[in-house]
Amino acid sequence: MRAAVLRAFGGPEAVEFGELPDPVPGPGQALVRVRAAALNHLDLHVRRGNPAYKIALPHVLCGDMAGELVGGELGGLEAGDRVLVAPGVSCWECAACMNGRDNLCRTYSILGAEGGWGGAAELCAVPAKNLIPIPAALSFEAAAAVPLTFLTAWHMLGALAGTREGETVLVMGASSGVGAAAIQLAGLRGARVIAVSSSEEKLAAARALGAAETLLLGASGLKPLRKLAPGGVDVVFEHVGGALFPELVRALAPGGRLVTCGATAGHEAALDLRFVFFKELAVLGAKMGPQRELRELIPHFASGRLKAVVDKTFPLAEARAAHERLESRRQFGKVVIVP
Ligand SMILES: [Zn+2]
Repeated sequence: MRAAVLRAFGGPEAVEFGELPDPVPGPGQALVRVRAAALNHLDLHVRRGNPAYKIALPHVLCGDMAGELVGGELGGLEAGDRVLVAPGVSCWECAACMNGRDNLCRTYSILGAEGGWGGAAELCAVPAKNLIPIPAALSFEAAAAVPLTFLTAWHMLGALAGTREGETVLVMGASSGVGAAAIQLAGLRGARVIAVSSSEEKLAAARALGAAETLLLGASGLKPLRKLAPGGVDVVFEHVGGALFPELVRALAPGGRLVTCGATAGHEAALDLRFVFFKELAVLGAKMGPQRELRELIPHFASGRLKAVVDKTFPLAEARAAHERLESRRQFGKVVIVP
């Protein structure tokens, strides 16, 4: 099969267009003809050789993918069915899996990372349990743009932060895949969104997705927020970390929840505990989310209440340019590779 092959760790140039043997589905696995795969920051970490991920080379990136079923175990579906693939691989036997928290499985891994070869190739072998049928109204490109970001954002705003109708949600990094998902999902829960980004162009796109207010992040940090939400915000949705973190905690109203799924600007942050106890704040972490929460979301894409946000698509032969696009942070929404 043709694939975007990682033969050595490094920059975008480490992604080579080439040939690999076709994957052979093992027990419990289905073979998918990939029609679209989406990049996540996770792929950049794996590509650079982040020691947190033990990856054998050659490797294929991209845990987010959609395509047609070809063979292997089909999990009750049929060859030719259109599917997206849930990116998290769980054992379905440990205590966490039995309690519906398969994202906390003791052997949890992600396709395209430690979970095996991903979807930046013509074919991919995936666990049959991870197949989710997609409605005809959802294109392969849009379907591939959904799983990791929408699942994570939904888990964060729903199960973790318990966002309620009428609450105010501050969405940091609104132009990222997970941020664009959060704007829509907060709206689905009836909340008012204040979107934060460092570019006016990206804030306009955030308003188009339903953000009621926007805040341009400049030299004064989050100071303009005092006018937009004088009593504080109920939920801070963030994946940036670093120097802004103390300001984000201070931005919370009494009873507020800060929920985070990343630390792109730094993984160490100061936390003033006086705010945490006086205002009964909660700081919550998310590691993707349980697979069933992803299945819950798919009907909303068929009905049009949710929209996958695709920034740009690249043919498989230009996977390297796709990496450069995500790395540049110029994108709004998902960067998609089409085999
Ligand atoms: Zn498990």
